[in-house]
Amino acid sequence: MSTELIVIETLSLVIVSAILLERKSVRFSDSMLNITTMYPVLISFLVYLVISILNHLHMSLLIRYPEPAVKLITILHTLSFPQFILSWMTHIERKTLTRRRFRMLLIVELALLAVFTILTIVDLGTGRLFMFSDAHQLEGGSGITIMLLLCGAYTVTGIMTVLHAWRSIDRYSRMVHLLSSGFILFSLVLFHLFRQPYMFALSNTFMLLFSYLYFQRRELEIDVLTRIPNFPAFIDHVEHVLRAKIESTMIVVDIENFRLINNRYGNSVGDEVLKVFSAYLVGFEPRAKVFRIAGNRFALSFHLMTHNQVVGSVKAIKSRCVQGWSLGMLGISFYVNIAIAELPRHANTRDKLLEILDFMLTEIKARRRQSVIIYNKRLTQLQLRRLDVLTALRGAIADESRIIVHYQPIHDVLSGRIHAAEALMRLQDPQMGMISPGEFIPAAEQTALISKLTESIVQKVTRFLHDHANLLASLSHISINISADDLSSSEASRRLLDILSGPDADPSRIGFEVTESMLLSSKQSVLERWEAFSSKGVKFLLDDFGTGYANLESLTSLPFDVVKIDRSVISNSRNNYELITVISLMLERLGKQIVAEGVETREQLEFAQAAGVRYVQGYYFSKPVPEDQLLDMLRYDRAKQ
Ligand code: C2E
Ligand code: CA
Ligand code: CA
Repeated sequence: MSTELIVIETLSLVIVSAILLERKSVRFSDSMLNITTMYPVLISFLVYLVISILNHLHMSLLIRYPEPAVKLITILHTLSFPQFILSWMTHIERKTLTRRRFRMLLIVELALLAVFTILTIVDLGTGRLFMFSDAHQLEGGSGITIMLLLCGAYTVTGIMTVLHAWRSIDRYSRMVHLLSSGFILFSLVLFHLFRQPYMFALSNTFMLLFSYLYFQRRELEIDVLTRIPNFPAFIDHVEHVLRAKIESTMIVVDIENFRLINNRYGNSVGDEVLKVFSAYLVGFEPRAKVFRIAGNRFALSFHLMTHNQVVGSVKAIKSRCVQGWSLGMLGISFYVNIAIAELPRHANTRDKLLEILDFMLTEIKARRRQSVIIYNKRLTQLQLRRLDVLTALRGAIADESRIIVHYQPIHDVLSGRIHAAEALMRLQDPQMGMISPGEFIPAAEQTALISKLTESIVQKVTRFLHDHANLLASLSHISINISADDLSSSEASRRLLDILSGPDADPSRIGFEVTESMLLSSKQSVLERWEAFSSKGVKFLLDDFGTGYANLESLTSLPFDVVKIDRSVISNSRNNYELITVISLMLERLGKQIVAEGVETREQLEFAQAAGVRYVQGYYFSKPVPEDQLLDMLRYDRAKQ
């Protein structure tokens, strides 16, 4: 027995110990990614190596043990072979078999090991399986052959489970599992032929090192904050699913207005929210794989679900989020937007999947009143239409005559006359005809073209006010819808200020309509710009009050002149009567005007009036109309006097 073998085994011992000692205290949701699952394998290999070195020290005559110790070590050495191989194979089998099958197999395998161990111990007395020479060296007996057969059986079983589960495991695991069990089988054969465990020690050390490096690499696919797989892991997973042709359902969950949670409670609370939410998703359905694919966006991958299963899951997730989580003293709830697609039916490449998921989520944001979309054929049409709209939008920015402003009058129910008007934009495209703002505003906001549109409409309204100063003098103001970008970009708001400072402009006749969600994200700089506009005389109107996040704080602390109650509140005015009354009383106290939006029927008008609302806008009086029609209405008003 040469000393080289001892050197090799000692070296292996050092490497494996180093891997084992590098304990990182991490928790993974997915046990596939956890190096700690390798610990039993690493430890049993260490046990094998220690005993092996002790044994080989004796066999190479470097150290002499007393007779009983020699026998014991030899026997232990023989037993440490199958115990190590069994621990490695069960590591593989646990991942590739169902829990029940794995348990059954494990029982059989452990029973075999137990029988072999008992036989070996009994043999200490009889000396039939392991025969020793006078010099206390192992000389013969069938013990070694039985041990090799046992090891071989374990290894072949391991290989078979990998082949059995071939489709459901990823490429890399296939390779590692097959390589490691293949090497073990090969080294068993070599051992049988030459009685030299060189190959065994070396190949296992390299395979363990290899697995360790793999775990290190996988660490890069773990999201640092939530400890769940991240976007690159999601991409890997999608590619695997598509390659293996596994039919699956992807549910992507996007936390709405997450920025606002960060702004209001601070980033550390935001982080906690992401952690509890991801923990909830991980526990939601144990068989689903969960990924954090962007800041506030998570993906769940399921085996193909039925429509009912999808609906059930979506309902459960949504209601859990509304219910909220308590973090210390805070109770935090939020809304989620959900996009659902099937692989490979809706997308047969990863790029296609990412594209339709993105499209669906932006679509949800644009629709405002729908928070779940399941992919379907109609969406493909819509996606094409969106591209056309974007082209039309670019065309309109190049040729501003295509940007049309319509005006919707706001009535004063006390005097029966037009009190103000809201400017609403349309695009007149040579190919597509008239395009409504519901279509192009979201596109403009995403592509940062919105500030150009706002600039253009502010210019047009300013000119309109100037050109028809006489007739329009009876209006308190004309309001213009402003987007978040217009106030948050210093460049955009400077340009608007420039227009409003022009010789023909009268900013005191202009109002800016802003929404609550825009304001919740307001930073100090936004408030400063607000100040710059209002010091020029521009009025501020709170638009769509009663949708989304009702924030009484911004209502009282921000200098709004007018609050516009959203159409959804009005259209349900029968149920919201009390609410509207209380709101209007409160706003009156605060010295703010109230406008009821979207009044369509006589009944709604009466409700609004009874609740104390004085200004009313809606189809009941008039749709948004072109300039000359508004002027006609004003002429008619004037003639009535
Ligand atoms: P909004 O600011 O809430 O504007 C009111 C919308 O409700 C208008 O739709 C108007 O035509 C519609 N409306 C008014 N009365 C009634 C009614 O009685 N019943 C019903 N069903 N609808 C009524 P429009 O013009 O399609 O504009 C949609 C949205 O697009 C606006 O909602 C606003 O958020 C945005 N928008 C319009 N013009 C501009 C603009 O110049 N800039 C920006 N940033 N957004 C704009
Ligand atoms: Ca508006
Ligand atoms: Ca509105």
